[in-house]
Amino acid sequence: MIELYLATQNKHKMEELSALLGEKFLIKSIAALGVHEEIPETGQTLAENSLQKAQFIADRYGVNCLSDDSGLEVNCLGGLPGVISARYAGVPKNDSENSKKLLLDMHGCIDRSARFVTVLTFHHKGKFSQFEGEIKGQIVLSPRGVQGFGYDPLFQPENESRTFAEMSLSEKNTIAHRARALHKFKVFADESLKFADQ
Ligand code: IMP
Repeated sequence: MIELYLATQNKHKMEELSALLGEKFLIKSIAALGVHEEIPETGQTLAENSLQKAQFIADRYGVNCLSDDSGLEVNCLGGLPGVISARYAGVPKNDSENSKKLLLDMHGCIDRSARFVTVLTFHHKGKFSQFEGEIKGQIVLSPRGVQGFGYDPLFQPENESRTFAEMSLSEKNTIAHRARALHKFKVFADESLKFADQ
């Protein structure tokens, strides 16, 4: 098994990623390295932030690690909220204020197309590899559904009549951006780490 530290302080992500990656990897928390603070995210893009988080852990501790960064990109807003998705309406982060601001900012937008994106970064023995997953869809006119988090009540995936918040977690996870990026990572890991022992 390959030891893999998850570069996040988010317990929910830890559980989700551990469940999905547990067979091949021995998943470890960065708390075991003594990292208890939030890892800085100062990049201009999701890919930069994802890389920054993996580099933070790799540079200090030299361990294998996986980081992620996700966001919602709305076409009529030039890709916003994007990298600032979590704090679109300001600090501290607030999902319902973010959604309200998004609907206000989109007032009058005819093109309501958007996508959710996740960029994963994997560090293994000094090499960094990135994996992107996306799901395209539309921003609906008013929130629908109670499942999930963040912008889920506003996002209706392509070829679906329900928003993410009207789907069960397992339904969402079969098509969502994070699952798609993870799938790419797992294919890569199966191929390129066949003979790796740590
Ligand atoms: P993170 O990088 O996964 O923490 O995501 C940053 C922000 O993007 C979250 O706080 C949410 O506002 C938004 N976001 C990312 N993924 C999702 C999702 O699956 N549903 C709804 N909102 C999401």
